[in-house]
Amino acid sequence: MKNLLDILRWSEEYFKKYSFSKPRLEAEKVISHVLSIDRILLYAEYDRPLIDDERVRIKKYILQMIKKKIGFDQLLKEESAESTEIKVENNEMIKGLDSNKIKKNNRKEFLELLTKSIVYFERKITGSEKKEIREMLVEIGKNKRPLQYVLGFEEFYGYKFYVDESVLIPRSETELLVEKCIELMEDIEEPKILDIGSGSGVISISLGKKLSKSVVLGVDISEKALAVAKKNKVENDATNVKFIKSDVMKSVEYKKFNLIVSNPPYIPDYEYEVLEEKVLRYEPKLALTAPNNGLYFYEEITKEAPNHLVKNGYLAFEIGYNQGEAVKKIMEKNDFLNITVYYDYAEHERMVIGKFNR
Ligand code: GLN
Repeated sequence: MKNLLDILRWSEEYFKKYSFSKPRLEAEKVISHVLSIDRILLYAEYDRPLIDDERVRIKKYILQMIKKKIGFDQLLKEESAESTEIKVENNEMIKGLDSNKIKKNNRKEFLELLTKSIVYFERKITGSEKKEIREMLVEIGKNKRPLQYVLGFEEFYGYKFYVDESVLIPRSETELLVEKCIELMEDIEEPKILDIGSGSGVISISLGKKLSKSVVLGVDISEKALAVAKKNKVENDATNVKFIKSDVMKSVEYKKFNLIVSNPPYIPDYEYEVLEEKVLRYEPKLALTAPNNGLYFYEEITKEAPNHLVKNGYLAFEIGYNQGEAVKKIMEKNDFLNITVYYDYAEHERMVIGKFNR
């Protein structure tokens, strides 16, 4: 490993080669700065080994000095001027947000984040980019618009999905449902899967991608949601997935699905009112609430499912945190067996899965 003396010699040579007038002095300045050691004390630490990170930083300074043809003191001066400049610029950008009641703390965070990202990318951002970032910050900070809608995407099960206000933002709990469905279908040669209320298409497409020999049909009543799902199908190249318009199973003709899965709207009206403001303002109510204490779609789907399932086919639901018993009962009433309620990581009831074996 290279020690301090080696690096010092190497730096000195470098500066000499580029005709710096005081090569030894410049080398000492750079190294003492990076190692936070008084220049005069460098001589007491000649043997000290340098870690990679220290060597990289020293090299970076030296290269900058050579490029700019300036001494180390000058470089430091310019650097600190530059970082204040960025801070001032960013301050300007978020100044207008003050009136938008962004709290002092948030404001500081925004500023830091912005400064860090710009420094990180090591480039100047253009005026129009600045405007765009500023508009996004207003959307998120002032208008409480969910980040995913502002950015236009969310990740789900390792895939990227386009989202806008016509669909729910996919929730990570729903990934558990997808995981269970994959387990259930793993041993079936060419599983046929129906996803009811497909929304952005996250369940259909994730299943289609992971189970490459499957055929997945996603249905939704919302044309806008279907448009989003179709876009996501193309983006993710999910050729074995198809989306059609249907009110629950009314327009579904196929009768031999191995699995029917659904994350239907399940929030009772009285719980809807107290949801987070950003959900109320931006996510589609149609995809969230259901009559009959939120149980309406579980009833409808469970009643119809037997007409569309093979013997030993599965019905898998996502449910609200306290709907386990109620949904289990609905499935029992309709001759499903092995009905199990599963919990999410927050220990909330989150899924009910049963088997149809008539
Ligand atoms: N199936 C979609 C999802 O899980 C949509 C669910 C819904 O709109 N209720 O995100």
